[in-house]
Order: sequence, then structure tokens, then C-alpha cells
Amino acid sequence: MRISEIGGEFALIERVTRKVKDKSVKVGIWDDAAVIKWKKNLFLVLTTDMLVENDHFSLKWSTPFQIGAKAMEANVSDIAAMGALPKYALVSIALSKKVSVKFAEELYRGFYSVARKYGFELVGGDTTHGKLIVLNVCMVGEVDKRNLRLRSDAKVGDLICVTGDLGKSAAGLEVLRKRKKGNVKQHLEPKARLKEAGKIAPYVNAMIDVSDGLASEVRHICEMSSVGARIFKERIPLSKNTKKLAKKVKKSPHDFALNGGEDFELVFTTPKKNLKKIRGVKYSVVGEILPKKDGIFLLENGKKTALGKGFEHF
Ligand code: ADP
Ligand code: MG
Repeated sequence: MRISEIGGEFALIERVTRKVKDKSVKVGIWDDAAVIKWKKNLFLVLTTDMLVENDHFSLKWSTPFQIGAKAMEANVSDIAAMGALPKYALVSIALSKKVSVKFAEELYRGFYSVARKYGFELVGGDTTHGKLIVLNVCMVGEVDKRNLRLRSDAKVGDLICVTGDLGKSAAGLEVLRKRKKGNVKQHLEPKARLKEAGKIAPYVNAMIDVSDGLASEVRHICEMSSVGARIFKERIPLSKNTKKLAKKVKKSPHDFALNGGEDFELVFTTPKKNLKKIRGVKYSVVGEILPKKDGIFLLENGKKTALGKGFEHF
């Protein structure tokens, strides 16, 4: 049987994994990072993310520095989504024989540039060979109990908000694939919202980062919180550049925002009264959490339509 036949990535994870027994594990699978009770009022968060050549990056348009930095930013994004701060990273790399020493040096310059920026340490990894280049980063972060934010804490009546703007990475990728011209920097050099997460976390209920598109992330929050949601299509934040890129490849920028990947923005849900407490962060209100029985849907000019599923890997 193919993975697509059982429903894809998440159906597979569900099928092969088992329940955690150890009481020190507060959250195992199904959040942006696992959460371990550590010291009094302090949790450890653990996440890992893998990039495969030609699937997650291409040497046709990314430099090794950019690839290294992106691998780190992707992990920082998951740590940020928990309300945590990154502390330590392990980096495993598979390189083919044709890869030069210079390439590896540039890759590591990318890793270290992100580590320096956010103040965490690269403490180890693994090196092996392979036909394609594969990078895996494992990251450990730390969070005060009060700031820990999960996918499972959305409440009916919460507003659904998103930082920055969406669709920029997927739009850039499509422009690169179709060999058009345009500003694709946000695809090549995505940035995690770590600083913003620190300002948001104290005032919100649920939080998740956007790695597979808004539709997918809203569905994750709804599933884990046993709630429904409505998203107002008109309120999805799109930059001028994203709209311009989408036009060049004759695609809808909303489609990139809802079903594209790797924007690394944060989606959070919060009661309306808490919104004014979030200072110094650019965000948009895009929807509302509903009772589960109301379902999950998109509103376009007041008309109900289906909210897609986001990016599917299989
Ligand atoms: P994210 O997009 O936030 O990185 P994913 O969608 O990749 O999260 O993963 C969802 C959840 O499934 C996470 O808790 C992750 O740790 C877990 N997970 C993903 N792949 C595996 C795997 N192969 N084995 C066990 N758990 C997995
Ligand atoms: Mg995530």
C-alpha cells in the first residue's frame, strides 16, 4: 500500500507511532515540538526537521549558505511556536562525493550565522555520504511554564491571527521553478519569528508556525483543540511582492498563502480583549474559533467554501 492511499504524512505518523508512557513527557507527538518537564517551572522543547536536495532546496538557485541558514530557521520556527527559546542544535549531513569542502564550509557558515543571531549553540551532529544532499537539524529549546503555548489550547470565540504576511515563500519557489524574474528573497532566506513569539506567547491560547500553509495549520489547531474555525479569505495578509510574483506565474496568491509552505509566520488564537496587549508585532486577524460542530471553513465574500488541506508531502 502507498502512503497516499492511507491519507498521507499524518495518517502514516498516526499509524506507526505509539503512546508515550513516561510521565515527564508533557507533549509527545502532534505539536511543533515535544515538551519535557525539566526543572521547576521550566520545560525543555525538542524538535527536528529534515531537508532533502531537490525536494526542499535546489542548488540551482540556493547557495550553500542559504541552505544552511534555512535548515536552522525552520527549526527555530518550531521552537518559537512553543513560546520557547532555542538553546542547542545537532546537525546531521549526508553529502555526495562531488560536494566540495568549500560547499560544506559555506553550509556551516549558514548554520552558525543563525546560531549567533538567536544565541544558541551547535553542539554536534553526524556526517555521512549519500546520493543526494540531506540535512537534518535537531534543536533543543527551553521555556518557562507560563509561556508554553500548544496547538491544543484554542478556545471557542478566540480570534485567529497570523504574523507578517503569507504565501511569500511558495510564490517565490514557483517563480524560480518557472524561470521567471522577481524578488524571491523570502523563499531563499526565510526568517523565523522568534522575537515576535516572545511578545505574543504571554497573551494567547494556542500557537503554531506556518510550515505547510495557513489551511493546514488552522486544521492542526482545530483538531488538537477539538474546535471548528472560520477564516475570512479577504483578511489573509499578502504582500505587494507576493501578489506580483503570483501574477507572473498566473496563480492565486491566496492559494500560496493557504496551501504553500515555509512562510514560518506564527498563527495564534486569543480572546479579543488580549489583542491590545500584544505590542510591537505586525499581525492580522484572519478568522475565529468556532464550536467543533460548526466545522472548519473559508468565507469568501461572505460565502462558505472549503478550506483546503495545505501542502501534502505524499
Ligand atoms: P512541524 O510541521 O511543526 O515540523 P510536522 O507536521 O512535521 O510538524 O509533524 C507533526 C508531528 O509529528 C510532530 O509532533 C512531529 O514530531 C511528529 N512526527 C513527524 N514525523 C515523525 C516520525 N517519523 N516519527 C515520529 N513522530 C513524527
Ligand atoms: Mg511547526
